[in-house]
Amino acid sequence: MKIIVIKFGGSSLATPERVRRAAGMVLSARRRGLYPAAVVSAPADVTDDLLSLAARTAGTPLPRREADALMAAGEQISAALLAMAIEAEGEKAVSLTGAQAGMRTDGKFSAAALKRVAPGRVEKELRAGRIPVVAGFQGVSPAGDITTLGRGGSDLTAVALAGALGAVLCEFRTDVKGIYTAHPAIVPDARKIREISYAEVLELARAGTEVRQLRAIALAARSRLPLHLRSSFHSEPGTMVTARGGKAGVSCLSLAREGGAASVTAIGRGLGKEHSRLALSAARAGADHLLSASPFAIKLAVPADSADEALRALHRAFFCRAR
Ligand code: ASP
Ligand code: MG
Repeated sequence: MKIIVIKFGGSSLATPERVRRAAGMVLSARRRGLYPAAVVSAPADVTDDLLSLAARTAGTPLPRREADALMAAGEQISAALLAMAIEAEGEKAVSLTGAQAGMRTDGKFSAAALKRVAPGRVEKELRAGRIPVVAGFQGVSPAGDITTLGRGGSDLTAVALAGALGAVLCEFRTDVKGIYTAHPAIVPDARKIREISYAEVLELARAGTEVRQLRAIALAARSRLPLHLRSSFHSEPGTMVTARGGKAGVSCLSLAREGGAASVTAIGRGLGKEHSRLALSAARAGADHLLSASPFAIKLAVPADSADEALRALHRAFFCRAR
């Protein structure tokens, strides 16, 4: 039984049409002979709306236990709707809360740590030919209360469930197409990366680029679970995050601004002196601008007022030729 976990972000579930599209993606995995299990976020904005509703109802600070019970409802809405949309297409599906899916946490409301996944119920549904649709972001405490895993926590649910089920892949369907060689808003020539290693993605985040699934990627790295970060609005493949990664060399660039200073970091595998030299010469910088260099990351100081240009120059140097 080749299991795949497919996780949908909130914007991918924001309207009935999008929920139906998500159902289509789950069903297409099934048609390819895989056993899909879905994990869902609350529909876009629902978590924030619930929190503001609570604040308007009872004032702040919110009672912590009830805040978790409230927030968990958002993911349950998504789970039930997606299960219905799958059934409407003629397959059997079953929505499950975090507790039903065996997500055992500690008792720290709003920031619970996932301690253990007991996937018995999910496995039973899969064996019975039903598609489990699990509410992300939530679990159950030792006292039997609903807990939540911290904002963005449904990514963790997906990776933890995939690990517990021995899934072959965990797919993240969001409004982002994947990881790019540089921020496309600054570098129009930036390309989507086909495959990258966990270590490089963690470096990318450390260099200051926002990586939405960071906690989940760190967890996946520990169990070497391959991840596929891709769009739920396109069928094209996204970025695979694996232990091995893609080709050696520079895989992507990150730009960070801290106060009046800026830095560009080239991230990759097997980086050496020649990569540092190429980076410095592209940025027209002297050796004293090299802030740090390791086989995984070369960090240069660049002038804050021309940092975008420096990023584009490095991108041309590293990517506008055969790698
Ligand atoms: N719905 C929760 C949030 O907005 C959890 C998630 O989306 O992962 O933070
Ligand atoms: Mg969300």
